[in-house]
Amino acid sequence: MKVIYFDLCAIPLYLMILIVCYSRRMTKGNANRLFLTINYLSLVSAVADLGMVILSRHLPFSETEIILETAMANIYLAAHNVTNAVLMLFLLSLTRMTSLIAKRRDKILFSLPNIVILILLIQNAFTHTVFTVSAESGYARGVLMPVVYAMAAIYGVSGLAYCVYSRRFLPKNKWAALLIMYLLVYGAVIIQFFYPKLLLEMFFGALGAMGVMLSVMRPEERMDSLAGMESWNAYQDDLRNILLSGERVQIAVIRMPNSREIGRYLGYHRYNTYISDIAEAIRCLPWKHSRRIELYFERPETIYLIADEKETGLEKLGERLMEDYVGSLGKYTKMGIRFEPQICLIRCPDDLQKAEDIISLGHKFYQLDTSGQNLFRAEEIIHSHDFAVEAHMEEILNRAIRENRIEMVYQPICQVATGAYRSAEALARLNDPEYGEIPPAVFIPAAETLGLILPIGDAVLEQVFRFVGEHDLDALGLQYIEINLSVAQCMQSSLPAKILGLQRKYDVDPKRINLEITETTFENISELMQENVSELIRMGYTFTLDDYGIGYSNIQRLNHLPLTLIKIDKSMLDEASAEGSGRVILEHTVHMMQSIDKKLVAEGAETRDIVDVLKQMDCDYIQGFYFSRPLPPDAFVRFLEEHNSALSRS
Ligand code: C2E
Ligand code: MG
Ligand code: MG
Repeated sequence: MKVIYFDLCAIPLYLMILIVCYSRRMTKGNANRLFLTINYLSLVSAVADLGMVILSRHLPFSETEIILETAMANIYLAAHNVTNAVLMLFLLSLTRMTSLIAKRRDKILFSLPNIVILILLIQNAFTHTVFTVSAESGYARGVLMPVVYAMAAIYGVSGLAYCVYSRRFLPKNKWAALLIMYLLVYGAVIIQFFYPKLLLEMFFGALGAMGVMLSVMRPEERMDSLAGMESWNAYQDDLRNILLSGERVQIAVIRMPNSREIGRYLGYHRYNTYISDIAEAIRCLPWKHSRRIELYFERPETIYLIADEKETGLEKLGERLMEDYVGSLGKYTKMGIRFEPQICLIRCPDDLQKAEDIISLGHKFYQLDTSGQNLFRAEEIIHSHDFAVEAHMEEILNRAIRENRIEMVYQPICQVATGAYRSAEALARLNDPEYGEIPPAVFIPAAETLGLILPIGDAVLEQVFRFVGEHDLDALGLQYIEINLSVAQCMQSSLPAKILGLQRKYDVDPKRINLEITETTFENISELMQENVSELIRMGYTFTLDDYGIGYSNIQRLNHLPLTLIKIDKSMLDEASAEGSGRVILEHTVHMMQSIDKKLVAEGAETRDIVDVLKQMDCDYIQGFYFSRPLPPDAFVRFLEEHNSALSRS
């Protein structure tokens, strides 16, 4: 008598897997759908298998029992064999190799063994060559059953071979779980061949599926379930596999620049609903290759869409989403939330072949084109100089450090009371042999993110201290030189010792150096940084707050910070030059600073008009192209000799 307990156990296991899949929302995306299908088909097979065995205990069969047994045998054979093919598809989908069977011819070839099985089952109704069900002996295999086995073996053997091969696409633990599943299923088939009474196959299959669910289908790794999309990690994994497999796809990077504000306005939970509503709206667009649209979310503001290379809807994605935003997402419009996506279209692998480059373009595309457009095409951006610089930044910075390519320029700062240039700001310049002049606004933030700002900061300090040590500042009419410090430099425990070393090496009086830090440095205030600042002040150095007016510093806080000077950012001066209330704001800012006894530098004065306005407001210092651009050391010295000595003569 056949042992039915294994089938009996398999059924609740498959049910459990299905329940877990739904409760963890593992229902979207190709791999998830295929995994669900495998488990549904296996559940049906297990029930049919069990039904057949139980029924066959009541021999001889009645007329109805024969019909029932025949139906269940058909269901079992069809469902079970289709599972083999779906399992193979599942593997291809996990490794993003479905492109292997993208052509119609390949699809037919792939389905051929299944088609043969189905034809055999249909013709069996008339010929009884695959199996027979008789009243006396019940179910029995027919002469063509080995053909069914052979067809199933095609999927089995090729699936197992592909599973072994897929080691290069998958993390070790995931690959192992898949391989174990295959070994369990086909091990059970072999055992069952020799011991037909041991109905192990469905149970072992369920164990394998359980293993795969636990270690491969980990939604916490792949899903951002709150946003109803796959996660940023999943995007990176899939991207790498797409490139390895040579699959041709289109990627749309959809950035929503006002997301942070919307998040603050809606609150965390409603923001997640907002994002998943947008994802749903994207899914519901009339895609021609809808099965191939996959969505990923990178918090807080970017959705990545991967579509088939043939999908034509991407060109109009922005417009279609805007239409939707008014339609299905109308409730947000009514709440006054604007939807202003910036979209970048990347053809892969035509435009870019490295995952890092695609990821980096997704993060930067909106900065690489200043024409104010909303649709960017990778093919247009990647040939630009800026993109080449961004893409090779690490190489450029390492070369700059290795070959001492950082040079300093000095921008004179005018003291309003005397009209003389009593100070100057030291600014870093980088001229790369391959990519030419690279602005500090580009290479300084890049060095900060790449962790290369410390050696660059060291080079800056060394040069400025050397300059101050080698020149008689008094003779030039200069009181001090300002040096910009990055957050990372301020957090360096060795900063005071480093500066002390330079001070001694070049015999520099600390009064001659003023250190510029920005508001962000104070926002990141840590004990170490506070200690550094206090220590440097104790040593005799002074500090300036740079870029005042673009952050959120309030005056009370400024009053308590150990600052000698406040530098008003150029953007405030620009506002004051334009029509509107900018001038009043500037005026109040200047008066406010004067009332707390801080000296003021206005930065970025380009015109006579704004210089006059600042002078009227009694601003202490003015820095800007109106007086001078940043100058190389020799030109800077000549500038001072010419202007400051002319003043002292008059
Ligand atoms: P920052 O410290 O605010 O420097 C002032 C910037 O404004 C400089 O740009 C200067 O050339 C520019 N500027 C001054 N007057 C005018 C004007 O009238 N019109 C215009 N359009 N611009 C004016 P630069 O040299 O390109 O530096 C940009 C930023 O890069 C600096 O802003 C600073 O944040 C950073 N940076 C430059 N050198 C260093 C450095 O040695 N170390 C660190 N940590 N950062 C630096
Ligand atoms: Mg500065
Ligand atoms: Mg500034």
